[in-house]
Amino acid sequence: MTDPTYHYDVLIVGTGNAACCAAHSAIEKGAKIGMLEKASKANRGGNSALTGHMRFVFNGTEDVRPLVRNMADDELHALLEHMPHRTEAEHWDEVMQVTNNQSDQDMLQVHVTESLKTVQWLASKGHDWVPAGGFKMPSDNILLMNGGGYGLQQRNFALLERAGVAFHYDTAATELIQDQKGCVTGARALTPNGFATFTAKSVVLACGSFESNPEMRARYLGAGWDTVRIRGVPFNTGDGLRMAMHIGAMPHGSWTTCHASPQDIDLPPFKIPVAYSTKASYARYMYPYSIMVNTNGERFVDEAYDLRGRTYAAMGRAILAQPGGIAYQILDAKARKMDIYPTNYDGATRAQADTLEKLGAELEINVPNFIKTVREFNAAIQPGQFNPDRHKLDGKRTAGIYPPKSNYCLSIEEPPFEAFPVRCGMTFTYGGLKIDPTTGQTQHVAGWPIPGLYAAGEMAGGLWVDNYASGSGMMAGATFGRIAGTHAAIAALQP
Ligand SMILES: Cc1cc2nc3c(=O)[nH]c(=O)nc-3n(C[C@H](O)[C@H](O)[C@H](O)COP(=O)(O)OP(=O)(O)OC[C@H]3O[C@@H](n4cnc5c(N)ncnc54)[C@H](O)[C@@H]3O)c2cc1C
Repeated sequence: MTDPTYHYDVLIVGTGNAACCAAHSAIEKGAKIGMLEKASKANRGGNSALTGHMRFVFNGTEDVRPLVRNMADDELHALLEHMPHRTEAEHWDEVMQVTNNQSDQDMLQVHVTESLKTVQWLASKGHDWVPAGGFKMPSDNILLMNGGGYGLQQRNFALLERAGVAFHYDTAATELIQDQKGCVTGARALTPNGFATFTAKSVVLACGSFESNPEMRARYLGAGWDTVRIRGVPFNTGDGLRMAMHIGAMPHGSWTTCHASPQDIDLPPFKIPVAYSTKASYARYMYPYSIMVNTNGERFVDEAYDLRGRTYAAMGRAILAQPGGIAYQILDAKARKMDIYPTNYDGATRAQADTLEKLGAELEINVPNFIKTVREFNAAIQPGQFNPDRHKLDGKRTAGIYPPKSNYCLSIEEPPFEAFPVRCGMTFTYGGLKIDPTTGQTQHVAGWPIPGLYAAGEMAGGLWVDNYASGSGMMAGATFGRIAGTHAAIAALQP
């Protein structure tokens, strides 16, 4: 028996943000689109549906105005007081800073220079943004997508359904199909009714990275990563990377590092997209104002060597390296009095005690070491004004201890003392495929472009190495998805 066959101009694998952007831009060119999604319709949307914000270039209110609705000028000006601009040069520098100058320059050039154009293009499709809130919000950008990533994705699905895109849910792509010349002409996929063949003139792979695959995590990231908990959906198991590399696609970027951040000790093994307003948040991003200690009662990292949005994706790795992969964020009563806790700490796993001895005992950590660590930390704090502004470092630092704490030092001396146990939560992996950043076309290991094959989102490697700047994954997915969709459609529709 032969597989049932479906035919499209452009076949897109995945329904995350990158895939949806590819679909929008391919539709603009007049292509007939099919989209394959491994998850059910109820669980569609990928990690993109769990997000909040995008990091993009803007030069002032005139750039942000098209993104927000019903916002008076004075409100908009007040919002931009926190962060008046992120110029192309500033954005380039922050990515190069977090990646130690290892970001692929050709990718980054497109990522930086196309970001504003891309968010304004999304706004033209019907998306909008709202203020991200003050420092109590776990965001490092001034705007959130309206309804978060879930809202963005719901709007995307409504728009694409209306435009006639054919969605195939519960359908996992398993292999790419090539013609005799090596041109990619579709994909085979497992559907609820068995295998089916989806032929197309171009294929866009946008089915995420390999963070949900323990075998690949162990293989590429090393010991300890196989058993780590995942912040996102269980569906991103590296299928697209495997399928593409099987036909000779070039791996690119950092395959040994990933995005992993401090999460509540009770982080569940996976998450499924739910409305942003009802989403339980396990992110524990209060650490720049705390000290983090391990079960030996010792600090192990500079908790505030940079702004939170530029350190959090590397903090998970530091926590995973501790005994048992556990750490504790320690704060005293001053933090509560200053009301600087992000709102999502209301549901945090926590311990509280009137003395450090009792707190250490309750946490079952090395109490003498813990007391010594806190005393030495308090004594090392230098004069200066503590300021929890998440867009500016305050320079309130320690001297003479290792590791240092470079900003946001608050002494730990006023009871009650609080501790928040945290673990490493993995978000996504950085390793991907080599694409031509101007077209999204994947490259063969032999150096030539693979005809008919495009990739976007987490599948496109090269931008992130070691670390990452918050809000960049959605931005890169949108930009490179838009580019891949455009060029996949142009190639598909050429006579
Ligand atoms: C909790 C959380 C919060 C985050 N917050 C932010 C944020 O605020 N800002 C930001 O920029 N980034 C954030 N990120 C990172 C962000 O989610 C990713 O950078 C982005 O979603 C990647 O988009 P994508 O389209 O490449 O992948 P995804 O959105 O993950 O989409 C991949 C899709 O492919 C599907 N798929 C997988 N395999 C197959 C297959 N074989 N066949 C068919 N379909 C398949 C999956 O089911 C999924 O729907 C966050 C991530 C998490 C987990």
